[in-house]
Amino acid sequence: MVTLSGNLREPIRVLIVDDEQTIRDAYAQILSRPQETSGKQAINEMRSRLFRKQEEVTAQVVPANSIEQFSVEYCSGAEAAVEACRQACAANQRFNVVFIDMRMPPGPDGVWAAERIRAIDGDIEIVVCTAFSDVDISMISQRVQPAEKLFYLQKPFSSHAVRALTLALGHKWAAHRRIARLAYFDSLTGLPNRNLFNDQLSLAIDQARAQHSKLAVLYFDLDNFKRVNDTLGHGVGDELLCTVSKRISNLLPNGEQSSHQQITASSKVTLARMGGDEFVVLLNDIASPEEARMLADKVVDALQEPVTLSLHQVLTTTSVGIALYPANGDNAEDLFRHADLAMYFAKRQGPGRVAYFNETMNAGGLKRLTFEARLREALDRNELVLHYQPQFNLATGTIAGFEALLRWNSAEYGEVSPADFIPLAEETGLILPIGQWVLKSACEQMKRWRDAGLINGHVAVNVSALQLAQPDFLAAVVDVLRETELPAQCLEIEVTESLLMQDEARSVDICKHLRAMGVTIALDDFGTGYSSLSRLRRFAVDRLKIDRAFVQDMHANLEDRTLCNAIIRMAQTLGLSVVAEGVENFSQLLLLQEEKCELAQGYLFSKPLTVPAAEELLRRGTETHDLSNTRRMAVLMSSS
Ligand code: C2E
Ligand code: MG
Ligand code: MG
Repeated sequence: MVTLSGNLREPIRVLIVDDEQTIRDAYAQILSRPQETSGKQAINEMRSRLFRKQEEVTAQVVPANSIEQFSVEYCSGAEAAVEACRQACAANQRFNVVFIDMRMPPGPDGVWAAERIRAIDGDIEIVVCTAFSDVDISMISQRVQPAEKLFYLQKPFSSHAVRALTLALGHKWAAHRRIARLAYFDSLTGLPNRNLFNDQLSLAIDQARAQHSKLAVLYFDLDNFKRVNDTLGHGVGDELLCTVSKRISNLLPNGEQSSHQQITASSKVTLARMGGDEFVVLLNDIASPEEARMLADKVVDALQEPVTLSLHQVLTTTSVGIALYPANGDNAEDLFRHADLAMYFAKRQGPGRVAYFNETMNAGGLKRLTFEARLREALDRNELVLHYQPQFNLATGTIAGFEALLRWNSAEYGEVSPADFIPLAEETGLILPIGQWVLKSACEQMKRWRDAGLINGHVAVNVSALQLAQPDFLAAVVDVLRETELPAQCLEIEVTESLLMQDEARSVDICKHLRAMGVTIALDDFGTGYSSLSRLRRFAVDRLKIDRAFVQDMHANLEDRTLCNAIIRMAQTLGLSVVAEGVENFSQLLLLQEEKCELAQGYLFSKPLTVPAAEELLRRGTETHDLSNTRRMAVLMSSS
C-alpha cells in the first residue's frame, strides 16, 4: 500500500497510548512546546489537569502552538488506539509516530495494539514503551513487522529522549513519503506512475481472483499530442496533459481521484500516467465489460470538447484499448500488454475509437503491432540514424555524393533493415514523420560537410509513395532547404519507377517543380519496372540508377550485360546521368568503366557508412588531389 498525504511542513502527527493519566500529561508537557514552558502556559496546563475529568482525556488534541511541531492525540487503551488509527487513515490524516505503553490492564497490551495498528497503516513508526526489563523484544519484533519501523523506550524516559525520538521518526516518515512520491507518482500530473500502477494491478488481480470478480484495464493514448507538443511547445503540451488528466479524473466512478491520495487494492478505480500522452485506468469489480466500455466512451466524449489552455485552445482526441480480467489475461503484464495492443488497433481505425482486446489481435497481429508500436516510438527515442553510401565518379575517381540510407537501431529488435520496416511505415503513415526527419537530417549533414570543405556534391534521399502524394510535399522540401541552408543543387530525390507511375500527371508536375528549384531527381531501381523510356522522358528525371539485380551478373551473364549497356547508352542519348548500384567486384567495375557509366556505388567501394566513417573517407579524399584517377579510387576503396 502506498499512501501519501498532507504537506511536508505539517506538524508531526503523534498518537500517545498509555493507561496512566500522569504519563499522558508528561508526554503533553514534552510535546506541546518547542521551548521551555512559559509561566502562563504552565498555569493553563495545571488548571486543565486539575479540572478535566478522566474520561474526557481519552482523545484530546493539544492546542496548537505558534510554531507547532507536533499534533498529538491521546488514548488510554489499546482498543481506542486501534480505532483512532483506523479513523485517521480513513480521513487521510495519518499518524506518523505512535508511542504505545506495553501494559495497560485490564485491556489488551501494547503488542496487541501494535500488531493491529501495523495492519492498518504500513508506514507508521511504532515506539513500544515499557517499565519492565522482562519484555521479550525478539518476540515483539516478530509479531510487529517491519523491524526498521519498530522502536523501544525504557520507562522512566527522559523528556529529551522522547522529544528527539519523535522529531527523528517524524522526519524519517516524511522523508520516506518524499521518496515514495518520487518513485511512485508522476511529477507533472501528480497521478500514480507506471510502477505504482503495476503494483496496484497485481494486487487487484489477486483480490479479483480471491473474490471471483472481474476487472478492466483501459489504455488511453492521445491521438494528436505530438503535434501540439511540436508546434506549440512543451509548456503547452504539459498544460494539455494536466488538463486531460483532470478531465479523466472527474469522470471516474469515485469522483475526482486527486493526486497523492491513499490508493489501496480495494479502490474502485485507479488512474495513472504511463508517460508521454498515455494514461491508464484500472477499473475494479465490474459487473460486465459494458461498464468499462461506458467509461471509455465517456472519456472519449469528454476529451472531444476543446481544451482551453492559458494561451491556446486545442482539440484533442483519444484512442482507447480495453483488456478484461480474467478473459484477456490472468496477470498484470498480459493484461497491460493486451490493453496496449487493443489501443493500437483502435488507433488504426481512426481517432477517438475504442477497442476491446481479442485473441485474433494476439494471434496474427501481436508481433506486427508491437513492431508498429516500437516503430512509432523510434523517432522520439532517437533510434533512427542515417548511414551514407558514397557514389563514385568513375571518370575522376572522386566522391560525387552520398545516398542517405535509413537505419533503425531498435532497443528491442536490434538493427532492423529498412527493407523490413519501410513497408510497414508506409502502410501506417509513419513514413511521413520519418521521411521528414530523413530529409532534414540528410540536408543538415550535407550542409555541415560542405561547410567543412569536405565535399562539393549531392546527398540522395529516398522518398516513398505516400510522401510524394502529400499535397504539401514540395512545400516541405522548400522549407527544409531554407531551414538547413543547403543549396537545392546538393539535394537529390530518389523515387522509383512504380511510384512515378501511380499518378503520372501529378508526378510530372512534382518533377517539374523540383527541377525548377534546382533539386535533382534520380530514378531508383531502374529496370525493375515496366516503364518505357519515352514515358520516362515526360518525368524529366536527371539520373537513372541501374538496379543491383542487373549489375550483379553483368560480368557473367551476357543478357544482363547487354541490358546494362543498353540502359547506359539510352541514358546518354537522353542526356541523363547513370548510377550503377550494387557494384561488388572489379569485373563489374571494369565493364562499367568501359561503357562510360558515370557513377557507381556498392560494396566494392564502400558499404553505407556512419557519419564519422563517412567523414574519415571524405578527409582521405581531400588528401588525394595529386594522385591519378585510378590511384585515387584505389586509395578511397582501401580506406573504407
Ligand atoms: P535502395 O534505395 O535501392 O538502396 C540500395 C540498397 O542496396 C541499400 O540497402 C544498400 O545498403 C544496398 N547496397 C548498396 N551497395 C550494395 C552492394 O554492393 N551489394 C548489396 N548486396 N547491397 C548493396 P538498404 O540500406 O538496406 O536499403 C534498402 C532499401 O530501403 C533502399 O533501397 C530504399 O528503397 C529503402 N530505404 C532506405 N532508406 C530509406 C529512406 O530514408 N526512405 C525511404 N523511403 N526508403 C529508404
Ligand atoms: Mg535508393
Ligand atoms: Mg536502389
